[in-house]
Amino acid sequence: MNANPPTPIPTVLTTDVATAADALRAGKLVAFATETVYGLGANALDASAVARIFAAKERPLFDPLIVHLAAREAIGEVCNAVPPLAERLIEAFWPGPLTLVLPRRDVVPDLVTAGLPDVAVRVPDHALARALIARAGVPVAAPSANLFGRVSPTTAAHVMEQLDGRIEVVLDGGPCRVGVESTIVAFDAGERPRVLRYGGLAVEALEAVCGTLALPQAAARHPGAAPGAQPAPGMLEQHYAPRKPLTLLDTLAEADAAQRAAIARGTLGVLAFRGLPPGCVAPVIETLSAAGSLEEAATRLFAALRRLDAAAVAGIVAERVPDSGLGRAVNDRLRRAAHA
Ligand code: AMP
Ligand code: MG
Repeated sequence: MNANPPTPIPTVLTTDVATAADALRAGKLVAFATETVYGLGANALDASAVARIFAAKERPLFDPLIVHLAAREAIGEVCNAVPPLAERLIEAFWPGPLTLVLPRRDVVPDLVTAGLPDVAVRVPDHALARALIARAGVPVAAPSANLFGRVSPTTAAHVMEQLDGRIEVVLDGGPCRVGVESTIVAFDAGERPRVLRYGGLAVEALEAVCGTLALPQAAARHPGAAPGAQPAPGMLEQHYAPRKPLTLLDTLAEADAAQRAAIARGTLGVLAFRGLPPGCVAPVIETLSAAGSLEEAATRLFAALRRLDAAAVAGIVAERVPDSGLGRAVNDRLRRAAHA
C-alpha cells in the first residue's frame, strides 16, 4: 500500500472541457466522466503526473492503469503492434467499454503498465471524455476515480466524496450510462483471446465477433508475470468494497431466519435484483432492476452500494443476478465486495 495521502489541494468541479484539458497538459489530476465509471486521469506519458494518481488513490504500484485515447487512430501513440483479432474488436466495439491489452511502446512509462510489456487501452464512448482527451492532446492514463479497493464512482458527487482535496479537477459529465468498468481482453501469444475482467461489454457480444474466449480465473496471474508476482491486475479478491460487511446469497429467498429478522428490523440492508421474495419485509432496500434488466442493474449497482453503505445498517445482504450479459460483471463486483 502507498504512503500517506498528500496535503489537501483545492479541487475544482467543472463542466468546462478547456479547464480540465489545460490541467491535464500541466501534469495535474483530472477526474472525468466516461460511459463506464468516472476515471482519474493524468497525462499517460508523464511519469510524475501518473505517480500522483497512485498517491491520490492510495493504489499499490503493481496495479497498472488503462490508457484512454480520443480516437482509435491514436493507438499507435502507445502500442507497438495490433494483432488482426484486436483490429476486429476495435472495429466492432470502439468507442466503448472494451479495454485491449496490447504490446506497448517505450514512451509509455513503466508506472502505467506496472512494468508489464503490454499496455491496456480503450476509447471511451462518452463525447465529453473524448473531447477532453483530444483537447489535452495526450493519451490519458485513468483508473477509476475512487480510493483503492472501494466502490467505483458513477457521478461527480461520488468522486468528490473520496477525492476532494486530493486532485485538481473533476469534469462533471453527469451519471455514467454503463455503470461498471470496461471489459478487459488480452491476447496470449498464439492462443485464444482472454477476458481478464468482466465489465460493461458482454462476453456474448465479444464472442459474436471473435469466437470463444478464455474466461477469467480467480487469482489468475498475468501471462507475463514472474512467479510469485502479485495476482494479475483486476484479479484482486477484495475490491469494490463498501465499508459495511456484505453477505452474498444466490437468492434472497435463501436468507436464514436470523437474516430475515435482521432485515425486517432494518439492521441489515438489502441489495435485491428484482425485489423481495414473498413474505420478506425490508425497510432498507435497494432494487437493481424491478424489470429484470441486467443493463439497468449494472448502471445502478455502485450508487446502490454507496447508499446502503451510508444507511444506518450494520451490514448488507445482496443476491446474485443471472450470470449472463452484464450480469457477469455485476456478480464479479458483488463477489469481490463480499470478500472479507
Ligand atoms: P481500474 O482497476 O478500473 O482502475 O482499471 C485498471 C485495470 O486495468 C487493472 O486493475 C487491470 O485489471 C487492467 N490493466 C491495466 N493494464 C494492464 C496490463 N498491462 N495488463 C493487464 N491488465 C491491465
Ligand atoms: Mg478501480
